[in-house]
Amino acid sequence: MAGEPQADCLFCKIVAGDIPATVVRETETTVAFRDINPQAPTHVLVIPRVHYRDAAELAAADPAVTADVLVEAGRVAAEDKVDSTGYRIVFNTGTGAGQTVFHAHAHVLGGRGLEWPPG
Ligand code: IMP
Repeated sequence: MAGEPQADCLFCKIVAGDIPATVVRETETTVAFRDINPQAPTHVLVIPRVHYRDAAELAAADPAVTADVLVEAGRVAAEDKVDSTGYRIVFNTGTGAGQTVFHAHAHVLGGRGLEWPPG
């Protein structure tokens, strides 16, 4: 059920501590950890502890936790000192947009030039 931990979800396992991750920040509602395959000098994933398949489902079900994810993304950027040079918060949503893990997550990318439009 949406909102409940899913046994087959990689990010639920990271939340539970069953799979190791390089955690950079934790709150009551979110966990932020370094991406295992970084695409920029700063590449951190911010996830809600609750399980929703993507950002849109999370936002519809829990606007407060969605806001927590965004606030934490900003804190990650500040702690990695990429806030002054610019950074990107990305929610890949759906397979066609590159989503591969179906537990809502924000990518925080920074520390290099970022092109627009993205590929
Ligand atoms: P998506 O493609 O937008 O769904 O993003 C999923 C991200 O999770 C990718 O950037 C992966 O590199 C990352 N990822 C997959 N497994 C792990 C892991 O075990 N630890 C940290 N990041 C992971």
